[in-house]
Amino acid sequence: MILSEKHSLIRKLVRDFAETEITQEIQDRIEETEQYPQELYRKIASNGLFGIKAPKDLGGQGADTLAYVIAIEEFSRVSMVTAIYVSGANSLGSGPLMLAGTREQLEKYLAPVARGEKYPSFGLTEPGAGSDAGGVATTAVRDGDYYVLNGRKCFITAAPVSDFCIVFAKTDPSKGSRGISTFIVDMKLPGVSFGKPEKKMGIIGCPTGDVILEDVRVHRDDLLGEENRGFTNAMKTLDFGRLGVGAQSVGVAQNCLEEAVKYAKERKQFGRRIADFQGVSFMIADMATEIAAARELLYDAAVLKDSDGPQASMHCSMAKYFASEMCNRVAYKSMQIHGGYGYIKDYKIERLYRDARVNSIFEGTSQIQQMVIANSLLK
Ligand SMILES: Cc1cc2nc3c(=O)[nH]c(=O)nc-3n(C[C@H](O)[C@H](O)[C@H](O)COP(=O)(O)OP(=O)(O)OC[C@H]3O[C@@H](n4cnc5c(N)ncnc54)[C@H](O)[C@@H]3O)c2cc1C
Repeated sequence: MILSEKHSLIRKLVRDFAETEITQEIQDRIEETEQYPQELYRKIASNGLFGIKAPKDLGGQGADTLAYVIAIEEFSRVSMVTAIYVSGANSLGSGPLMLAGTREQLEKYLAPVARGEKYPSFGLTEPGAGSDAGGVATTAVRDGDYYVLNGRKCFITAAPVSDFCIVFAKTDPSKGSRGISTFIVDMKLPGVSFGKPEKKMGIIGCPTGDVILEDVRVHRDDLLGEENRGFTNAMKTLDFGRLGVGAQSVGVAQNCLEEAVKYAKERKQFGRRIADFQGVSFMIADMATEIAAARELLYDAAVLKDSDGPQASMHCSMAKYFASEMCNRVAYKSMQIHGGYGYIKDYKIERLYRDARVNSIFEGTSQIQQMVIANSLLK
């Protein structure tokens, strides 16, 4: 896709920011300490990048979904963990608000996210409800002006550092996924606690953990959208999230390719650059081709999603499915080209390989994307 001047400018702005601000030294420190630097977080906020899609009158940039995926791709090309923070604020965290929030809710919750003053999390998954998200067991029982929430959410990105969580809970357990409602839960409310952050393979620096809800009283003003309509909100939000994961995948894969090209030109064996061996150069050709194909699929799906085009959800799933599987293939090849050195932490590909892996798992596994695609075609 030939990008407009506006979209090319967004790419340039985010690329310059990421390359300048997220230095190798900062990335190494994040891996060592497992902490994301507050200073860097504040710089992202002051550049308005937590509110790419939020409306201008709420402090956001009012940009479209294509701009959002380009920004995520460029962050991820340098640092996937940074891309996750930016994506979390722009999609999973603010998506449900933008889809169903009242003006008061948007001003109270979305505006501070767009300004980088508050950070959201998205609480759908539970120990017994992963791919089968409609099977959530968390309950919300009406009591006067309040709902009383009980349950446990797991694998929640940024849970312990978030200010509020969009929680999906059953208001009518007899209706299955049609009995789910969405709540904005302030993390400081009595009865909210967190599990220990999980020890993860990659995306180190962004904590993932449980949100435990014990008799949490949420005011009815913080019911998001209509009662029992929460599952639709979750699925629509996931379309944007899946585009975000597709963009993360393209960004990481691009980084893997650039590292492979650099290494193949430097490393000599049998008296020649390994780049001169067809076995190596053809791997690089395949990597570049797959990345280009994934990028096109992704950008097309982003445009289609905004125009509410036919089968937009299917295209979001296709982009996520293809890009995330592609990212893993590309990371594998890049490490192969690095030989034994790629397995050593001194080389960038070691982290990229670990970061890549989760893309085909979270926000719906590849098998779930295949189900969405197949169901759209066969229903
Ligand atoms: C780092 C990380 C961050 C996350 N962040 C969040 C977050 O912020 N918020 C949130 O709500 N969740 C989050 N998740 C949860 C994530 O979305 C789930 O892990 C994912 O949807 C899969 O659910 P599961 O792990 O329970 O696997 P399961 O659903 O148990 O799946 C196990 C395997 O069975 C396969 N499978 C399941 N059902 C079918 C089927 N019908 N047909 C074919 N195959 C099937 C799956 O594809 C998979 O291979 C996160 C997960 C991770 C790892």
